[in-house]
Amino acid sequence: MHPYLEETLDRVRSRNAGYPVFLQAAGEILPTLEPLLGEYPEIEELNLLERFCEPERQFLFRVTWQDDDRRIRVNRGYRVGFSSVLGPFKGGLRFHPSVSLDIVRFLSFEQILKNSLTGLSLGGAKGGSDFDPRGRSDHEVMRFCQSFMTELHRHIGEQTDIPAGDIGVSQREIGYLFGQYKRLVNRYELGVITGKSASWGGSHVRKEATGYGVVFFAQAMLRARGDSLEGKTAVVSGAGNVALYTIRKLEELGVRVISCSDSQGSLHAPGGIDFATLRQLKEVERGRLSAYPLSSGDTEYRPGQSVWDLPADLAFPCATENELDRADAERLVANGCRLVCEGANMPCRTEALEFFREQGVLHGPGKAANAGGVAVSALEMQQNAALEQWPFAEVEARLEAIIQRIHDRCRRLASRYSDPDDYRTGANTAGFVRVVEAMRAFGF
Ligand code: NDP
Repeated sequence: MHPYLEETLDRVRSRNAGYPVFLQAAGEILPTLEPLLGEYPEIEELNLLERFCEPERQFLFRVTWQDDDRRIRVNRGYRVGFSSVLGPFKGGLRFHPSVSLDIVRFLSFEQILKNSLTGLSLGGAKGGSDFDPRGRSDHEVMRFCQSFMTELHRHIGEQTDIPAGDIGVSQREIGYLFGQYKRLVNRYELGVITGKSASWGGSHVRKEATGYGVVFFAQAMLRARGDSLEGKTAVVSGAGNVALYTIRKLEELGVRVISCSDSQGSLHAPGGIDFATLRQLKEVERGRLSAYPLSSGDTEYRPGQSVWDLPADLAFPCATENELDRADAERLVANGCRLVCEGANMPCRTEALEFFREQGVLHGPGKAANAGGVAVSALEMQQNAALEQWPFAEVEARLEAIIQRIHDRCRRLASRYSDPDDYRTGANTAGFVRVVEAMRAFGF
């Protein structure tokens, strides 16, 4: 390894000993940037790598709210603005009991390169809370969101920092958050948050964007190999926003999706999952996957089991980080899987990625494949600025074009610095080159 890279990694490790997930992401990204060191001497001269690994700012705050039994609850809120060299801080909010400063820092770090890859003027950020909206009434969620925004509003703004949704934060939460922001600042500043409902300032396709984008990315990878999605079978992990719309687009493009999951188990439907039934259960009724009606004889719900042991041509991890380990990767490959495209952020452990690479399995890294969400968020900001709302078909066509461009850029840089199918190196180098050029331009 290049000595500058090694020294930087050592310093990053010693300064971030309490942040293992962030270090995992840094340990995966930094070595892939090595080929850039010869071409961009300023990376070492201006110590850009170490600067890249240190967040510009981070906030940690107390969120106090009252539950329906009038008990006072206390949660933690976080917002990490990792980099604003390419534009205002931009990234989602996650409400889940597993949220910690480590998780938010890792997500925020990944977001820098993801946002850069879109080619748009967006910096990288992420935030959230250890609050769990599951099982909470609408009123409890509203009171929590209002309290969360009462602190967060000081740090955000349409030119400063623009949050959106992520795990546990859907249009309902975005509505409560925006409502409180509007109350506090006395302005109807639509561009301060994205992921809004299309009925009041949101963009068509934002809800579908991440999942659709994942499928467009997989389609582009297969097309580059002279192959297509049609007639293939797939497994998708998760049953939330990203998983749902990945399933929908896969089905539209002729793929049979035989399984999806949540944190308690997986659904196996060898004949194919019925999207309309799944959407009604998860999005409308907010029910558990175990309640999916087992109308056809061979459909089953498998408590405690993931989707990775089922035979399928394609796999789409769309739940959460580190959900797929080496043993899962081995099972997938033994069962004939040839493409893994990430809807979630960093869902594959490092050893799983190494195995896929050894086996020649096509791998679409999350920061490229799931960039459709942030890309349509940027389209939402454009529509807000112009006081417009574009038709569904127009936004979807723009999304597909953006994802194709991201794919092509990844492949071009992968060919230059590694091999054309090494999308991980392609995504990291393509994302980082824009960051380098802006950092150099701005001085220090
Ligand atoms: P949702 O909250 O809508 O859904 C998350 C799904 O993943 C649920 O089915 C949930 O199951 C499952 N899940 C969450 N945590 C775990 C866990 N620890 N173990 C097993 N299953 C788990 O979130 P999204 O669909 O929005 O996000 C999914 C992933 O996609 C995340 O990694 C997110 O960062 C990423 N992403 C999301 C974007 C977006 O636009 N929403 C954009 C880009 C990336 P359960 O209900 O049982 O908890």
